[in-house]
Amino acid sequence: MSTGIVWFRRDLRLDDNPAWADATRRHDHVVPLLVIEPALLGSAGPYRRNAFLQAARTLDRDLEGRGGRLHVISANPADALAKLMVEHGAEGVFANADVSRWSQRRDRAVDAATGGAVTWSWGTLVHPPGSVLTGKGTLSKVFTPFWRRWAKLPLPDEAKPGVATVSADPGSGVPTLEGRPPITATTGWDQLVERYGETRDIPAVEGTSRLSTALRFGEVSPRRLTELIGVDTAGREAFVRQLAWRDWYAHMTLDFPEISRRAVRPEYDAIQWERGPDAERDFAAWQAGTTGYPIVDAGMRELAATGWMHNRVRMLTASFLVKHLLIDWRRGERHFRHLLSDADPSQNAGNWQWVAGTGLDAAPYFRIFNPVTQSRRFDPDGTYIRRWVPELAGLDPSMIHAPWETPPLDLAAAGVVLDDTYPAPIVDHSLARERTLAAYATALGR
Ligand SMILES: Cc1cc2nc3c(=O)[nH]c(=O)nc-3n(C[C@H](O)[C@H](O)[C@H](O)COP(=O)(O)OP(=O)(O)OC[C@H]3O[C@@H](n4cnc5c(N)ncnc54)[C@H](O)[C@@H]3O)c2cc1C
Repeated sequence: MSTGIVWFRRDLRLDDNPAWADATRRHDHVVPLLVIEPALLGSAGPYRRNAFLQAARTLDRDLEGRGGRLHVISANPADALAKLMVEHGAEGVFANADVSRWSQRRDRAVDAATGGAVTWSWGTLVHPPGSVLTGKGTLSKVFTPFWRRWAKLPLPDEAKPGVATVSADPGSGVPTLEGRPPITATTGWDQLVERYGETRDIPAVEGTSRLSTALRFGEVSPRRLTELIGVDTAGREAFVRQLAWRDWYAHMTLDFPEISRRAVRPEYDAIQWERGPDAERDFAAWQAGTTGYPIVDAGMRELAATGWMHNRVRMLTASFLVKHLLIDWRRGERHFRHLLSDADPSQNAGNWQWVAGTGLDAAPYFRIFNPVTQSRRFDPDGTYIRRWVPELAGLDPSMIHAPWETPPLDLAAAGVVLDDTYPAPIVDHSLARERTLAAYATALGR
């Protein structure tokens, strides 16, 4: 009887999982393994940790349906895998590769320790890195040509599992969840995609799928999702295009593993970010959702309370930190990474660099969102703000986006006292804009 080990990492599913399919086809018996890496779990924030554990539990239940259990150990994989192979008489290990700097380093260590016993597949992206290239054989530096090529490629084949028997030894078992359960997918997301183009930018409604955490831990196959949704209508195509952004940032990370540490366009690393006590006070206000800009505060409070934030509001809050407070995007990236249940080094840093204007095909640095205009446009009746900033709930839609412009009598009627029940803005939009344009221009020598 031949035995293989399937090392589950951020691909916690049996459906359309290339590593699982490969092992169960090639071997008579498989050991489904989850290695809890203390360094990794310890650095994850509370929401991501819970999302990971919940996904592992679901996988364990699915394995029970095949007569097995997820074998859980807590160890450094480079130390543990060679030993486990001997213990189980396994001929090989099967795993889906990952792109981050950290995982690349770990996987090289595992390859060295096991003498190359791991068969690597790609199960966390729609199209693997290296498969969507320009005519010159490089990754496109601009998203639209990447998307055109991506959309024309045939989808990789479905990964169909074989009939191997499955080990039923649970090891130490999946640790129990602590605190709040993570965000789950929007009900009826598959119907929502029809209207995605109209609803995706409105944070007050459930207009996006909320599948990002399930994608982060691989509970859903992005290839399967793309196949299910297709591109037959404008809404479906708009949705699938977002999955291509996800692939693009992952491919970029493999080419540029320093993505969360350095600007992809190095000239932007010369920006002189604000430092010192005033910047610390501003950073703390941003984190706490007390900047005095209601849409920014609503987003930061949603993040702290749920471990998730709507994409439009992620863009606004990130832009506010970088372009209104002139605080280094890396500090914001770290804060998001700690709290987001879907936090992923490539997606988080890729998007932060997009907002900061330092990445490939990023928002031009001189485009600075006006948080009030954006708030009026995407939360016109203030429903999202009222949900997360209840102290402003009494203000009507014409006032809620900029309380400091509201006549004192109207503020009093709504029970709002600026700088008492709700902060006055910590920064003036026009002055902040000038300061940021000057700092970027100096760094770029313009
Ligand atoms: C500053 C900032 C930080 C971000 N950090 C992360 C992160 O750590 N992890 C993460 O998964 N996404 C991140 N995003 C992208 C995006 O905000 C989330 O993927 C999206 O809000 C998740 O909600 P959803 O599943 O309802 O998305 P939907 O709108 O339903 O989109 C479907 C899927 O497409 C992908 N997607 C959507 N938008 C983007 C995008 N801009 N970039 C890449 N993929 C996208 C996601 O996997 C998402 O689940 C970030 C965006 C910004 C602006």
